Amino acid sequence: MKNGIIVTIDGPSAAGKSSVARLLAKRLGFLYLDSGALYRAIGWKALKDGISIVDKKGIERICKKIRIDVKKMGDEFRIMADHMDITEEIRGPEVSRMASEISAYPAVRKGLLKLQQDIGRKGNVVIEGRDTGTVVFPEADIKFYLDADIKVRGERRWKELRSGGFDVDLNLTIREIEERDRKDQTRTIAPLMVPSDAIFINNTEKTLSDVADLMLKEIKNRTDYP
Ligand code: C5P
Repeated sequence: MKNGIIVTIDGPSAAGKSSVARLLAKRLGFLYLDSGALYRAIGWKALKDGISIVDKKGIERICKKIRIDVKKMGDEFRIMADHMDITEEIRGPEVSRMASEISAYPAVRKGLLKLQQDIGRKGNVVIEGRDTGTVVFPEADIKFYLDADIKVRGERRWKELRSGGFDVDLNLTIREIEERDRKDQTRTIAPLMVPSDAIFINNTEKTLSDVADLMLKEIKNRTDYP
């Protein structure tokens, strides 16, 4: 059984889900759960332990052993793997590639499904990802699907990577995003799709605060949020 309100935000890579989910969670006073960070944590651990992307058994072992926590520190939510803070480390292109590949593995999705549901069902939460409104919380109180033009998404991700100290090429970043979207949309388990009952927002020409305001209005109209 769930307590409180569950808000889901799905959409393709670099659509602005994390930024808006974080802001929305802050305004609502809810927990923010970045489900992509959980997939990244598994990918990070595989890279750290030298486990190959094709070694499904090795990845499965990681899923069984790793302890992932979301820790609130002030206004921020930190991602912990086996008690180590990996929040910044999991943002690089190498981890992105690994996370994208291993997210199609049934054992990974199964393990992370339970973790997300256990965290989310504790209380009021804004969760974002690819399947949060379709598979993780089909019973969510309100669902959003966020998208933007590929060029805008590419530029956003490129700027984010550059400011994080990663020297990456813009065109390559765009191509990688397209490839990750294709994989997310075509995998057999929990593919990325628009939940039938979601509110669709294209934020190509909207600011972060426009999108958060719009979502807040819908949440107040359609849920029990006071
Ligand atoms: O959102 P982010 O780019 O951090 O997610 C990392 C990877 O995890 C994505 O490329 C996607 O393949 C996968 N993912 C997923 N399901 C989710 C969230 C992320 O498959 N709910």
